[in-house]
Amino acid sequence: ASGEHVPVLVIGTGYGGSVAALRLAQAGVDVHMIEMGMAWDTPGSDGKIFCSTLNPDQRSYWLRTKTKQPLNYFLGFPIDRNISRYTGILDAEEFGGIIVYQGRGVGGGSLVNGGMAVTPKRENFGFVLPTVNPDEMYNTYYPRANAGLGVGLIDSAWFESAACYQYSRVGRKHAGRSGFPWGFVPNVYDWDYMKQEQAGTVTKSALDGEILYGNNNGKKSLQKTYIAQAKATGRVTISPLHRVTSVAPAGGGGYTVSIDQLNTNGDVTNVKTVLADRVFFAAGSVGTSKLLVKLKATGVLPNLNDEIGKGWGDNGNVMCGRANWLWDPTGSLQSTIPCSGIDNWTAGGAFAEVAPLPIGIETFASFYLSITKNPNRAQFSWNAATGKVDLNWQTAWKQPGIDMAKTIFDKINAKEGTIYRTDLFGTYKIWGDHLTYHPLGGAVLDKATDNYGRLVGYPGMYVIDGSLIPGNTSVNPFVTITALAERNIEKIIATDL
Ligand code: FAD
Repeated sequence: ASGEHVPVLVIGTGYGGSVAALRLAQAGVDVHMIEMGMAWDTPGSDGKIFCSTLNPDQRSYWLRTKTKQPLNYFLGFPIDRNISRYTGILDAEEFGGIIVYQGRGVGGGSLVNGGMAVTPKRENFGFVLPTVNPDEMYNTYYPRANAGLGVGLIDSAWFESAACYQYSRVGRKHAGRSGFPWGFVPNVYDWDYMKQEQAGTVTKSALDGEILYGNNNGKKSLQKTYIAQAKATGRVTISPLHRVTSVAPAGGGGYTVSIDQLNTNGDVTNVKTVLADRVFFAAGSVGTSKLLVKLKATGVLPNLNDEIGKGWGDNGNVMCGRANWLWDPTGSLQSTIPCSGIDNWTAGGAFAEVAPLPIGIETFASFYLSITKNPNRAQFSWNAATGKVDLNWQTAWKQPGIDMAKTIFDKINAKEGTIYRTDLFGTYKIWGDHLTYHPLGGAVLDKATDNYGRLVGYPGMYVIDGSLIPGNTSVNPFVTITALAERNIEKIIATDL
């Protein structure tokens, strides 16, 4: 309620925010979490909480009147459709040179992501988080994060016979024939549940096109792991459809947090202020960066240092498809949950997930999301004329990432005598270079903050999400975000409370 005084306020309910809330609550601290998206705990008129990618409705997108599908073309035709404006689950946030996809709701990105739970190879960790001790991460915090998230591996015997992973087996065959290492990728999906989906004994979810707009069964989102545990302590309160707009030092200590309450049209229905002794920024790389850049530039938090807003990267994301021969079908039934990847990081700077194209028909296409070592970094800045925060990323900055992904797929195409698909992102367009799923940076560890996420100049203010990571994790990012949050919150609880 407005005027309330809380010991800890957490902005956002994604990975960083959920770790902070759980560990603080276990240490005996009351926590209030503020989330701009919906709770996603109530079924719609179709009896389901989430809609599928095969039939997107208002629940799919954050305040849009038309879908903005990442794969926006098929056979060269646009496939986006009209929807009603609603506080839907996936935000396709448009900056000048890139669309940044993000989850909106209690659970943040865990609601919409592919669940791929990958720990970087230890030899690459110095590149990922150069100021963090790898021993403590690999001995303590990565294992803790994997356990907390419920990470597991596919049953490799079942994989060989599952119709829904024919696309991965084709991916393995092509990788192997070109001499690339291929391997299973861990996931938070309940693999036993998926076996039952394939056997036809439970309601289908991964096998029914559910992923980008939420997953009704099987996926262990944060709602089922960290957030469930946090709520069970009795010390954590969550306010969905509330958006933080400002955090300002309060006269008598602590911070005054300004919050807009939203309705499902996105209109502000109420404005509240809360006094918090401590504030954790966990609004995601984009959300946290936007808040901090605005608050510094408008003089609300003038002591924040000049690293705020810098060091933002796209985790080198680029997408592409390949057209297979008619004797290499990838299957009309495809699990939305990817289970494998091709590793050419050391030689070529690319790690490619063998991704599904789950549209219910045979496409004879292999589809990949590559994570590359693209060195380009962008910066957020305050635009006083528009009253918004801009990001200076240019579409052309994807080129190094495309070149790295080509070290894998040019070779596979040459070996297989195949070509790239040109119909998935437009007409005659090969590369999905217009987007990222993996925004990272903007409040980089040991630069904008100290080496544990404490914001320089403001005691009791912390960053604890993907904005701490300097632009790239060499693999999918959420395990690293979670592990870093586990490391930082342990230190903060031990020394600051
Ligand atoms: P988030 O999870 O983004 O959480 C931030 C939360 O803060 C959100 O719920 C947001 O609504 C809320 N918020 C923002 N601003 C405010 C505000 N002002 N007030 C209140 N609340 C606010 N990663 C992987 O590792 N594996 C994958 O398979 C994978 N697949 C992906 C697929 C898709 C389609 C997408 C979009 C992402 C995927 N990711 C994947 C990326 C992963 O989900 C993110 O890296 C991760 O969620 C980031 O965690 P975070 O804690 O930094 O922030």
